Amino acid sequence: MLNAELVNKDEEIIKFVDDLLKKAVEDKVVDIHVEPKDTYTQVRFKKDGVLFIPEGYDKIPKILHSYIIDRIKVLTGTMRRDIDKRPQDGKLRKKIGEIGDVDLRVGTIPTIHGESIVMRVMKNDPYQLDIEKILNNDKYLIDTFKRNIDTKDGVILFSGLSGSGKTTIARAAVNEIAKNPLKIITIEDPVKVVIENTTQVQVSNHFDVIFETAARQAYRMGIDVLYMSEIRNKEVAHMALEGGLTGFLVLSAISTQNAIETLFRLSQMGIKEYLTASTVKFIVSSRLADKLCQHCKEEAVYSETELKAVGLTAKEIKENTFYKSKGCEKCNQRGYSGRLAIIEMLELSHNMKDAFINGGDNEEITKIAKKDGVYYTLADDALKKFKGGFIDLETARKFTL
Ligand SMILES: [Zn+2]
Repeated sequence: MLNAELVNKDEEIIKFVDDLLKKAVEDKVVDIHVEPKDTYTQVRFKKDGVLFIPEGYDKIPKILHSYIIDRIKVLTGTMRRDIDKRPQDGKLRKKIGEIGDVDLRVGTIPTIHGESIVMRVMKNDPYQLDIEKILNNDKYLIDTFKRNIDTKDGVILFSGLSGSGKTTIARAAVNEIAKNPLKIITIEDPVKVVIENTTQVQVSNHFDVIFETAARQAYRMGIDVLYMSEIRNKEVAHMALEGGLTGFLVLSAISTQNAIETLFRLSQMGIKEYLTASTVKFIVSSRLADKLCQHCKEEAVYSETELKAVGLTAKEIKENTFYKSKGCEKCNQRGYSGRLAIIEMLELSHNMKDAFINGGDNEEITKIAKKDGVYYTLADDALKKFKGGFIDLETARKFTL
């Protein structure tokens, strides 16, 4: 561990940072946070959405803070050590023992106590581009997903709030489509993962202008598929939908609570209902939930009233075993380990489109979607994952009430 009086400062700082990165990669954490406080520096890891102080890294002497930050910047090869008053981004690649080369994304931000750094271990992103894994290896979800992204034109949207996994799912869809010999351009803010067989464009500041310029240019380049990381305003929304109408496939994420709400969100942005109805084909929505630790989960006995309250039928209650969390060494006594995406899928039917164009409200559209059998809801998926022993009743409740 570091103490304030270092004999061989450079060497010890180098070793400290090396050890920190190695520990983070080995412990499969997603983020490493180096946070300056008033009198000390705090290192925290983030795993399964929970921040914690790794053993042996509590309260680093503040006098060493700038050396640690400098060392990390040096490793990126691009970040400026002489700048500490404005945010910087960088990447670093580090060889970690037998694991081999590991990529980390690095970001700094100036705080009142000095520069704070967050490093994301790209390898430890539990989802990355593997759609089967993201969809929890669920055959129904995988089949529905693959069938609907196998299209030559129109628009596919990925909805959810911030931190819902929507961008991850969108990227995985692009990755799946890119297995075919197609011209695919992505416009991302920022590019987080390299997707093979695609041309990835990163937009930076002045989002609106550059994003649209890039999209307009892409449209002239004979593309088959365009992926725009997020629809944030009317201009980009319009661009995406026009693209889908012109004969190629457009994929994008949009920040909304669920799939049906996405249609109305586009209207709020100023998109005409007929344009939405004639281009949007498929909407996937998602939210992350704590997954039961598969090592220590145990059978749970719930009352029939409790189970019926979340929407289970008497038959389902009789036929399934339910589980709850317990806590063990593998999950740090949390009872949960990892997170999984609760998924919603909506295929737009003709009846739905007609109702939407004719001014139908959320309730009406939802009713039609369910009647047409094209709407698999977050509640449906939460119940399926509850019955499958992946989540507990408490978590399932968040999606069904
Ligand atoms: Zn456990």
